[in-house]
Amino acid sequence: MVAGWFAGEGDDFRLLGTRCSACTSVFFPREDGFCRNPGCPGGDLDEVPLSPRGRVWSYTDSRYRPPAPYVSDPGLPWQPYTLIAVELEAERMVVLGQAAPGVSVADLEVGMEVEVVPGVLDEDAGTPRTTLATWCWRPTGVGA
Ligand SMILES: [Zn+2]
Repeated sequence: MVAGWFAGEGDDFRLLGTRCSACTSVFFPREDGFCRNPGCPGGDLDEVPLSPRGRVWSYTDSRYRPPAPYVSDPGLPWQPYTLIAVELEAERMVVLGQAAPGVSVADLEVGMEVEVVPGVLDEDAGTPRTTLATWCWRPTGVGA
């Protein structure tokens, strides 16, 4: 599901999008077929790393188990997680992601700077537990 959406490790970890050579629109999740800008004649879509930092646009605390068809084992406790929508200024887009482990809504403010870090999606999706590499947003400690 997330193949080719990010690359690198540690400080070099980046989300990967694609950029249209004709209109410079950036897409994430990556668009490899054709430019989705209706006013664009169409250009080549080249892979580009996205800005590693952005600002919190909104966030939400997912306290409740998502309804069907979300697959989760009702016998296991639901792990709440915090979702953050981050505005990337250069790309003029908003990218959703989970907050880094230990970061709760109490730690977040709209406008706060966050950076992308590697993460693990640990879903209660049956046995064996599925663990997927993903990305998280972590506050940099810089206020609005
Ligand atoms: Zn385009």
